[in-house]
Amino acid sequence: MKIALFNDWRVGIVDGDKIMDVTDLVPHWSSDWPYSWTLALVQSVHRRAEAWIDLGARPRMPLDRVRLRAPLPSPSKVIAAPVNYHLHQREMGGAHGVYSGANIKTIEDYALFLKPPSSIAGPGDVITLPFAGRRTDHEAEVGVIIGKTVRNISEADADQAIFGITGLLDLTVRGGEDRPFRKGFDGFTPIGPWIVTRDEIPDLDNISFHLTVNGETRQAGNTANMIYSIRRLVALASYQTTLYPGDIIASGTPEGVGEIRPGDQLQLSIEHVGSLNVSIADRYAEPPDNMGDWFQKFLSAARGAPA
Ligand code: MN
Repeated sequence: MKIALFNDWRVGIVDGDKIMDVTDLVPHWSSDWPYSWTLALVQSVHRRAEAWIDLGARPRMPLDRVRLRAPLPSPSKVIAAPVNYHLHQREMGGAHGVYSGANIKTIEDYALFLKPPSSIAGPGDVITLPFAGRRTDHEAEVGVIIGKTVRNISEADADQAIFGITGLLDLTVRGGEDRPFRKGFDGFTPIGPWIVTRDEIPDLDNISFHLTVNGETRQAGNTANMIYSIRRLVALASYQTTLYPGDIIASGTPEGVGEIRPGDQLQLSIEHVGSLNVSIADRYAEPPDNMGDWFQKFLSAARGAPA
């Protein structure tokens, strides 16, 4: 099942190039933040609540007539995997890498980090880059959605906790600050175009995906090449923190990361899911003019230490 949010946060089931509005089945639905009903919805569908088995006959609208939204606009958290593909590790520290010459470690050393839920964006959104003088990169990833409350789940049992997957971009300012700062700006975690439930993914360890920028292929990856598999990520995350329905895990990016600039059009395509399109605003953000001299270093920071 493909679950989408659309227009004023209505709930839809995607069927081919059509979408069926099922908002009336969703308890406590509201078009206003904090959209906490989305988390209850994930939990209920993961349990296969009865209302979702009999959807009945409903009108279907063409998908291209609706405005798709981020399928999970306010999760309790977004957990992310740093350097989870060896070829990405190599490119970062390689001769032409962003952190050339540095000893880039992997998830085995860094473990996990958090991105704020306010960094989430959705299909069709326009993302404003914060710093004109700094390099900001795309990272194409598979987003893993948790379906139930779990703690200390093993890798072998992790499937029970996985609700589904979606496309995810982990946008990143390069530099020496901590990852949650550089990757946590508003709009820096686009997800979508919808969630595909676990039953429609034949093999979590063989999902291919690719990213184009202005129509040119930049990244092509497959979850088979992960250092820590999706199940291992779920196990590690659940050992650190209780996972709740709707929590999102950004599973890491393959090689091919590169700079994004104002006006760029990004398209992330994930096997079994579909394509997520976002664009970059045609100008950089401008800070208020009373920020003070101390702020200048953030606007113009040279490549920092690897992090
Ligand atoms: Mn990433």
